[in-house]
Amino acid sequence: MPPKKQTGIFLPYFQGPRLSDFPQALNNILSQDNVHYYDGVYQAVNSTYYVRPSTKEMLLKVHSDEMIQQVQRSGYFETASYSAGVTIQAAEEIFLGNIDNVFAFTGVGDHHAGRNFFGGMCYFNGAALAIAILREKGLKRFAIVDTDSHHADGTRDIFVRDKNVLHVCFCSQNYSDNNYNIDIEIPFVTKDEDCLQKMRQVFVPAAKAFRPEIIFWEFGYDATQGEYGDKGLTKDCHLEFAKIIKSTADTVCQGRLITVLCGGARRDLATYIIPKIIAALAELD
Ligand SMILES: [Zn+2]
Ligand SMILES: [Zn+2]
Repeated sequence: MPPKKQTGIFLPYFQGPRLSDFPQALNNILSQDNVHYYDGVYQAVNSTYYVRPSTKEMLLKVHSDEMIQQVQRSGYFETASYSAGVTIQAAEEIFLGNIDNVFAFTGVGDHHAGRNFFGGMCYFNGAALAIAILREKGLKRFAIVDTDSHHADGTRDIFVRDKNVLHVCFCSQNYSDNNYNIDIEIPFVTKDEDCLQKMRQVFVPAAKAFRPEIIFWEFGYDATQGEYGDKGLTKDCHLEFAKIIKSTADTVCQGRLITVLCGGARRDLATYIIPKIIAALAELD
């Protein structure tokens, strides 16, 4: 048996009720030897580091000064800075070899934040910022897979002409181009198996051919039944996504995978789904 992957859990400062059950809902997971807890809110016994917000210098690597100032006036600047900060720190910890894969809790964020615009409760693009930092450290090829219900217009804006970033987005349209941008339509009434089949048939071979050095998973659960982006997926579908994406990362990039929490509002679904995903990342089942 190869050694278990080392999994980092990053929990920053945030506003809003959806993560109210965390970190308590992770009690059995946090005590595992291969799980590393990076804490920005709570003082836990096995918390080794404190999560830092992203600095303006970091934000300017992706976003315009004007947009950053708009976010400062939005009332969400602090939550947004911590949300982006955890993704950047997660990438740095993986780069240093301290951990292999990550679940990054975010208060807001990511995929609707472009270079010069934001919306849909996304303020800064943590994955894009992490990629900018990793590029400075010498990494060259990146993949982003997005299972949030909505189109990742911000992420696409940032990487649309970038041939070193594979962007596979599950949303409401089919699209592909020569710059490694792929959209996969998830119809409004979808069965888990149809969606999982598309993950296996489109994302997995694309990632194997592209050979990224790290994979980012923009994980939103808003396509779950009863959520605001309901596409008919059951709450158990996300664990199956996790297994496929982790296995792909294990095959193509030594397991380097950063899971970034995106859309989804219901507290009960977060509490049901997220511990199962983290257990899969840490190979606890
Ligand atoms: Zn969404
Ligand atoms: Zn899309």
